[in-house]
Amino acid sequence: MEIEGKASLRVHNVRLIDGVGSEAVPDAVLAADADGLIAYAGPASHAPPAPPGGRTIDGRGGTLLPGFFDCHVHLGMSSDRSVVEEALMTEPVLRMLQTADRLRRTLDSGITSARDLGALPAGFRHAVATGLVQGPRLQVSVGIISHTGGHADTTLPGGMNLGLDFCELADDEHEVRKAARRMLRAGADVVKICTTGGMNSAGDDPDDEDLLEEEIAAVVDEARRHRGRAVAAHAQGRAGVLAAIRGGVRSVEHGFGIDDQGCELLGERGAFLVPTLATVFQPLDRSKLPPWAYEKKRRWNERAKENIAAAIARKVNIAAGTDAGISEHGRNLAELRYLVELGMSPMDAIRAATSNSARLLGVDDRLGALLPGMCADFVICAGDPLRDVGVLAEPENIVVVAQQGVVRKLTPPAADTGDRRSEPAPEAVVIAPAPSVASHHTEGTS
Ligand SMILES: [Zn+2]
Repeated sequence: MEIEGKASLRVHNVRLIDGVGSEAVPDAVLAADADGLIAYAGPASHAPPAPPGGRTIDGRGGTLLPGFFDCHVHLGMSSDRSVVEEALMTEPVLRMLQTADRLRRTLDSGITSARDLGALPAGFRHAVATGLVQGPRLQVSVGIISHTGGHADTTLPGGMNLGLDFCELADDEHEVRKAARRMLRAGADVVKICTTGGMNSAGDDPDDEDLLEEEIAAVVDEARRHRGRAVAAHAQGRAGVLAAIRGGVRSVEHGFGIDDQGCELLGERGAFLVPTLATVFQPLDRSKLPPWAYEKKRRWNERAKENIAAAIARKVNIAAGTDAGISEHGRNLAELRYLVELGMSPMDAIRAATSNSARLLGVDDRLGALLPGMCADFVICAGDPLRDVGVLAEPENIVVVAQQGVVRKLTPPAADTGDRRSEPAPEAVVIAPAPSVASHHTEGTS
């Protein structure tokens, strides 16, 4: 059943955190017009009167926030199966349906926009944008580019290559440009490269360097020449972090080995750090990891926490990303708790996952903040994340999720709470196509 969400929407009885301001508004109203654009967001006392015929949502004293971003996900990957199991042992239709399920769970956890950095075909972006499946608005890299023997080389220790279609190997400037062009041809909104080795690749180490600075610069140039697209670098060890920033990438993913020099350079170049702390805070379970991965994580996790805490203290430009697919899907906002554990204020963590992430994705003109004229992508969370940011981590606390005024998730109030009238009205539950996707350079990439 599809019903067009062409009616105004009004949210009341909420505390408002708008994603850019430094204070919450204790008793607020958000009004969105029939096109899903915000007409008003502010104190209830100044709100315009509700227009007749509109839908209303009683926020039940919860907190209204912008729809969140996760700038580093792998929706095509399951976190509880190895790549071998996933790619070679799972029937393709089943894999696709499982991906659709992960999209839905990610949306239900409060993520209304996501950037997928490898293993998600661009068709999913289109499927979400046209309402075929429900999920976060998407930007996708489709694949991952590294050197032979690097992080994207899936040759197994026994010599067999998994031949995964999202892994691109390239070894000089000419080849990296060509690899970037293949990614763009496949519909990439952002180009993903590796400038270091990683935890989950058998043959390399986070301190190993991958693409050379001039190769990084070549990919950055190739992406720029195609509607000014950005480049994201998987970069863990110090040297590869520096090479990535010097080469001109827009975001350093992971950045576990970042030092003062890296932080400074990041600031100078206006690049972003996406620290994917969910993978660092994941409990280390020897039985679930191959011995080499366990050993690398054991060596790196504490180091990563120290370096990211130092970067937070230096106020570097941080956007939120979880590496879900490596970490768990559907609990993406636990990332905010980890940022706070490493020294960020809850408000800054919320801004990292809303307005700052929107800036990284180039969509801050309409997403990432609850301000007049912007898209009404929002969530309502039970509780106050400024007191305990951990409330955001539990999907059951995310009681309402909306994209451009269309309600995607709505948890009915617990039965019989006394004086509250039973809100919201049934017509508030509107299933309609997702609004067109993120990014000024995204839609209909073909
Ligand atoms: Zn990743």
